[in-house]
Amino acid sequence: QAKERQDGEPALYDPSMHSSLVERLALEAELRKAVTDQGLQVHYQPTYGIHDGELAGVEALVRWPHPERGMIPPDVFIPLAEQTGLIHELGRFVLREACFQGREWATLSPSTALSIGVNVSGKQLQRRDFAGEVSQALADSGLSAEHLVLEMTESVLMNDTESTLRTLEALKAMGVRIAIDDFGTGYSSLSYLHRFPVDILKIDRSFVERLSGTDAEDSLVQSIVQLGQTLQLETIAEGIEEPGQLLALRRLGCTMAQGYHFGRPGPADVVSRLMVESAGQPAAAVPAG
Ligand code: C2E
Ligand code: MG
Ligand code: MG
Ligand code: MG
Repeated sequence: QAKERQDGEPALYDPSMHSSLVERLALEAELRKAVTDQGLQVHYQPTYGIHDGELAGVEALVRWPHPERGMIPPDVFIPLAEQTGLIHELGRFVLREACFQGREWATLSPSTALSIGVNVSGKQLQRRDFAGEVSQALADSGLSAEHLVLEMTESVLMNDTESTLRTLEALKAMGVRIAIDDFGTGYSSLSYLHRFPVDILKIDRSFVERLSGTDAEDSLVQSIVQLGQTLQLETIAEGIEEPGQLLALRRLGCTMAQGYHFGRPGPADVVSRLMVESAGQPAAAVPAG
């Protein structure tokens, strides 16, 4: 944004504006390079059944280890990828990587059947061939469609509804499940829940954070859980950090749990080890709070 001088005339030159533009262009060039030269990684965060404490799935989260700046968080580079169109290639990389990894875990422990969550940007969903891309990733990796969960936010479902509906129905027909990410943070009416084939509500971390164990504070989460029960949807609580939050969510009838209390996102081999451990132990030994 151009800064204005006191008299209202736009400044001709603002060094801070210049450096931020240059910085942005540099970051964009570096992101392009990371996307094309295999410079991105995928980490996985486990999700658990809230009542039995069993490892139920993982969420794939993209990571960009930058040689000079360290780990750049996705909240910084995903928007940049969306603005520049790099999101398609980035998203395809994460999707394929997660499907191949999911297939490896299914082979490692056929009885565990982890669900593999992959975040999908609205830009990706608007592409005509998105369902085809997903189908290709499943075919190439050998992961069965029932194991794949695509996570998207409410706002994504509000845009461009006709083609979004067609794409989601194609995915649904393949057996892929759909989760609404950050549920409760969107503005809109809930009518899209009838319109779109949704399977899972992921309760946003901001609501979990505010859980106090007192009835008044918890009624918001309670209504989301009840909505899930009415519509027969799974409810996953995001961002559980405290044992008290877990207890409150269990009491409210939420079905699945995710958060630092259980484990942070990490490389795939961390999850492989968790799988081996949980296969050899009674479920109660898994950290359930
Ligand atoms: P999200 O999909 O809602 O993912 C959950 C985020 O919450 C992750 O942040 C995760 O590390 C963090 N988290 C999990 N448990 C806790 C907790 O107990 N406390 C706190 N404070 N945070 C927790 P991350 O990995 O930084 O990702 C941020 C967002 O970036 C994601 O939010 C998602 O919207 C986006 N994102 C990440 N990977 C991808 C991707 O491959 N594609 C797309 N399109 N978006 C992605
Ligand atoms: Mg997500
Ligand atoms: Mg979320
Ligand atoms: Mg988010």
